[in-house]
Amino acid sequence: MKKVYSTEILANAWNIKNVLEQHDIEAVIKNENLFSVSGEVPFLECLPQIWVKPLDFVRAKQIIADLGSSFEEVGPDWVCASCGEPNLSNYAVCWSCESSHENAHENDLANQ
Ligand SMILES: [Zn+2]
Repeated sequence: MKKVYSTEILANAWNIKNVLEQHDIEAVIKNENLFSVSGEVPFLECLPQIWVKPLDFVRAKQIIADLGSSFEEVGPDWVCASCGEPNLSNYAVCWSCESSHENAHENDLANQ
């Protein structure tokens, strides 16, 4: 199994698990019990996590990305160098103007 997603919000984890199962992807939530018992903000490694089979990993990532900005995966987003639109980190090309991520990457580094 591979971890495909983690979230501070257990409801998000359940939502994603449901969506993945609608796509015939077997998903397991880890740490849900730790989270609900503690009642405190959990350590990062105790956050609810979605795990899927390695064969389903790429497809699951894409499905989660398609859920939209409220379910952003962990990782830096990037801003298109051509049109300035924000893109999810796993988009290879801008959703708006289809410029490649490579152009934007140099821009990101220059801003740091
Ligand atoms: Zn663009």
